[in-house]
Amino acid sequence: MARIVVLGGGFGGLAAAEALSPAARAGHEVVVVEPRQTFFLGLRKLWVLAGTADLASGSRSLQGVSRHGAHWLADEVVAIHPATRRIRTHTTDLGYDYLIVALGAQPRPELVPGAEAAINLYDAQEVARRAPEVQDFRGGRVAVGILGLPYKCPPAPYEAAMLLDDLFRRRGVRDRVELVTFTPQPSSLPAAGPAGCAAVEAQLAARGIRFEPNRKTVRVEPGRVVFESGELSWDLLLAVPPHRAPRVVVESGLAQGDWIRPDPQTLRTQHERVFAVGDVVEIPMANGMPLPKAGVFAEAQARVAASWILHELGLGQPVTFDGYGYCFIEVGGQKAAKVAGRFLERPGPQVEVSEPTHDAWREKRAFERQRLEAWL
Ligand SMILES: Cc1cc2nc3c(=O)[nH]c(=O)nc-3n(C[C@H](O)[C@H](O)[C@H](O)COP(=O)(O)OP(=O)(O)OC[C@H]3O[C@@H](n4cnc5c(N)ncnc54)[C@H](O)[C@@H]3O)c2cc1C
Repeated sequence: MARIVVLGGGFGGLAAAEALSPAARAGHEVVVVEPRQTFFLGLRKLWVLAGTADLASGSRSLQGVSRHGAHWLADEVVAIHPATRRIRTHTTDLGYDYLIVALGAQPRPELVPGAEAAINLYDAQEVARRAPEVQDFRGGRVAVGILGLPYKCPPAPYEAAMLLDDLFRRRGVRDRVELVTFTPQPSSLPAAGPAGCAAVEAQLAARGIRFEPNRKTVRVEPGRVVFESGELSWDLLLAVPPHRAPRVVVESGLAQGDWIRPDPQTLRTQHERVFAVGDVVEIPMANGMPLPKAGVFAEAQARVAASWILHELGLGQPVTFDGYGYCFIEVGGQKAAKVAGRFLERPGPQVEVSEPTHDAWREKRAFERQRLEAWL
């Protein structure tokens, strides 16, 4: 019987555990290694920020993976040895027959001098702790900025700005708040192409949210951000730090450069029986840019990796990753725009951004509910 070890119990790891349930039913061992006690979807952070939901109601215990016949090892992996097919955690040393690395990408505010002065938009605990400060804001400049690349869920900062616009309107203080977004990139969502960027930037403009591209942050100071060229003062700064692969991935020799680069169709790495999925991988698109880091891709890639493992165990047919993905950008007023497309097309991604609708807003809630119900 084989032992399949899944590193990380986030979007990709949980999708893998579910997809591997035929292996568990056939008597193989599936182990998910994840130190966190609970899982919630990243999109909930913005609802917490806007005060429309709490974290607890969208959180589920990792114990739920047992529904799929998987075991949960509540520990942190500290070493991966592909040559000997072993991993080490703080408490144990585990051999594997197959490995799926789904360790995600970590926001690293310490890479930007002074970033601790900002509210880290991608840190759930910090967002929960400081949300009252945002919600009670009485007037001044609120900046939502991307401090460095890459970062996951590219639309999220713009979505945050539009949810804040909605919040301040509902509170009757919008005319006293100036909202500004900034990014080091030349446009809002480069992966969505010129039309997609125009659609997002039009939504920002329609709400009076200023959009500043090509703003490369050098450092953050109390009350101002210093860019390579120019600066921006702020009364409240919500920031997305640059992301990096977890240290264990780099130290294990799995990464080429900053990220793991598996075969884009099968998610196999160069190491035998080792697959890598989700934010920890870098897959180039035909236009040379990397595939955006998003949960839908982590999930689809996890299913692909699992299908190859099941195939090798004689339990099914393999599938390949096609690069289709979608997400919803909330714009306030219980509406969302849907971003959808084929990101691995040639000569470049074919992506559309729809007009915001209430249906898409509801679809986003169903997106969360379905995953929590299916995985845990
Ligand atoms: C505000 C926000 C909104 C978002 N909205 C969307 C959305 O609407 N749609 C969408 O598709 N995506 C969205 N995303 C992006 C999505 O959350 C990520 O792309 C997705 O979680 C990536 O999945 P993953 O499995 O690669 O990594 P993760 O889900 O981050 O999982 C990685 C896991 O590995 C664990 N881990 C790390 N190091 C170790 C270690 N040493 N040992 C063991 N475990 C470890 C971590 O604890 C974590 O649980 C959003 C993200 C944010 C921040």
